[in-house]
Amino acid sequence: MILKQTSALALIITFALPAYSERKADVTPVLRYSDDIEPEKGTDLSPSDETCTIGKEQSPINLKQDKHLIKNDLSFSYGSIPLKLTDNKHTIKVIAEGENFVIFDGEKYKLLQFHYHTPSEHTIDRKSFPVGIHFVHKNDKGNYLVVGVLATEGAENSEYTKIISNAPIKANETFTPENVLIDLNKFIPLSEKAYQYAGSFTTLPCTEGVKWFVLETPVTLSKEQIDSLSTIHPNNNRPIQR
Ligand SMILES: [Zn+2]
Repeated sequence: MILKQTSALALIITFALPAYSERKADVTPVLRYSDDIEPEKGTDLSPSDETCTIGKEQSPINLKQDKHLIKNDLSFSYGSIPLKLTDNKHTIKVIAEGENFVIFDGEKYKLLQFHYHTPSEHTIDRKSFPVGIHFVHKNDKGNYLVVGVLATEGAENSEYTKIISNAPIKANETFTPENVLIDLNKFIPLSEKAYQYAGSFTTLPCTEGVKWFVLETPVTLSKEQIDSLSTIHPNNNRPIQR
């Protein structure tokens, strides 16, 4: 795994601490961050984050066509929003304000934010994708539903260009460029089927009970877009957990 110098240094320091010597080496680098809910969460595992290491429903996983692929029952109600970004040094996150949601099983899950991983965290029958994008939703009861969109190399996605051209941004600060709207619908492919399972956040605090839907149909990003995302935050994927 290629790590940026600062991350590599942090990793060396982490492993120098005896208290952390039993931690699984392959999951530590990504667990120092929280992509899913709290951008300012601390930089290392705390006792309350033990779900990451002892949880039984940890994500990501290798998805199988014959086991997880079912009809896509999600109903999207997305619109255009002002672009609002934050960079937590691990990924670029777009904060979604307003009434953008999915309906699943009669329940409304509101979109909170989306962010990306290079390469994708989930694999499909062991196949990895250059980019995976996670759309994090929450309902009134506090339950989470994440929609995963896989990206392959192809045509440029003009909406993603707006994100890339406004990065890099200062770490852990919110940046709202003037007069930039993004159409959330252009991030979501039409997909008749989705890989569904119960899992967790892939970063701190590794919360379980997350409904995962990884859409079968990928979107495309251009080679330049994939290269840009990979350069900004390389290898920010948590490894397969089970
Ligand atoms: Zn993610």
